[in-house]
Amino acid sequence: MPDTAAQLIAVEDAHGAHNYHPLPVVLSHGEGVRVRDVDGREYLDLLASYSAVNFGHRHPRLVDAARRQLDRLTLTSRAFHNDQLGPFCAELAALAGMDSVLPMNTGAEAVETGVKLARKWGYRSRGVPRDEARIIVFDNNFHGRTTTIVSFSTDPDARGDYGPYTPGFDVVPYGDVDAVAAAVTPGTVAVLVEPIQGEAGVVIPPAAFLSGLRDLCDRHGMLLIADEIQSGLGRTGYTFACEHDGVRPDVYLLGKALGGGILPLSAVVADRAVMDVFRPGQHGSTFGGNPLACAVGREVVAMLSTGEWQRRARELGDRLADRLSRLDPSKVTGLRTRGLWAGVELSDAAPSAREVCETMARAGVLCKETHHTTVRIAPPLVITPEEIDHAVDVLSDALR
Ligand SMILES: *Cc1c(COP(=O)(O)O)cnc(C)c1O
Repeated sequence: MPDTAAQLIAVEDAHGAHNYHPLPVVLSHGEGVRVRDVDGREYLDLLASYSAVNFGHRHPRLVDAARRQLDRLTLTSRAFHNDQLGPFCAELAALAGMDSVLPMNTGAEAVETGVKLARKWGYRSRGVPRDEARIIVFDNNFHGRTTTIVSFSTDPDARGDYGPYTPGFDVVPYGDVDAVAAAVTPGTVAVLVEPIQGEAGVVIPPAAFLSGLRDLCDRHGMLLIADEIQSGLGRTGYTFACEHDGVRPDVYLLGKALGGGILPLSAVVADRAVMDVFRPGQHGSTFGGNPLACAVGREVVAMLSTGEWQRRARELGDRLADRLSRLDPSKVTGLRTRGLWAGVELSDAAPSAREVCETMARAGVLCKETHHTTVRIAPPLVITPEEIDHAVDVLSDALR
């Protein structure tokens, strides 16, 4: 068996598909904000698996919930009821202030479910002529990797050579309400938006954007679908990033942190009137709503229901923003932060974002570039103030 980092990377390179470009670090253990590689080196994890590990690696409450459920029942399919599904749906719906939940597994499946829901709702509730439903989406979006989702991506890597593409989507500039208004047609059934664009580099829209979308959707009878798969569940200092703007969407798409960093769990949350367009047999998933995932999801929801994690993200986010604002201005052209989430835009005078991340990894801090010039920072919410300071010091050194 290969066991050194170099051997493990070589075997992955030889036998794994080359659809990722990871930093050359081979992790074997994790606890809280810290991970360890196969050579015993310790790192601060400032990426948190793109927010799937919001509560830190192996949070004891979440591991306990999973363990207890492992000893009882793991998978039933939806041919039968299980005793975790109902409570999970009720508790997550209450957290979101809505009344129904459709559980899936990955984020992309939640987005696909949202697309199907919006189309069916358009035909059944709005009387849109068959096959004429359209959905407005935004440039530089990231909603996942299925054939339909990449059909409305504007990233040439994500989309290239995967055609023929699914029709029915109109792409407009992110942050531009007027462009959305101009793109509305009689068949437009929904606007699908990330309240903050994570993969695009933690891009925060103008203040009136989400509320403008809310107004437009109300005016034209369209569903506002918020993809909070990365922004939701505490990351931004609120349960949902939409709360910053006081906006309640019609549909939340959730994933990543919902699975507690243990397993994939996603969900579509909406009110009954919308959700009930799905009838038996019209949508589903073998693993969706399985008791193991629901048990972990219930614990995630219970943790978020006190508001402590959100408060922590707000307070520590202020500290992170303050430290980052002191970085060398000749190396940093822009800084976007909300809660414990930051996109640091590097200038031409700085090394590339990839080089910065590689230098930081050698110094024991893991984060990930997005595009060539953005370093994205999204630590687990268990990070301490001192660890934030240390991480920013390491970033500062890496910019030299
Ligand atoms: C990660 C992500 C997805 C896709 O989730 P997967 O679990 O990778 O399929 C969708 N939308 C957003 C905003 C994401 O960040």
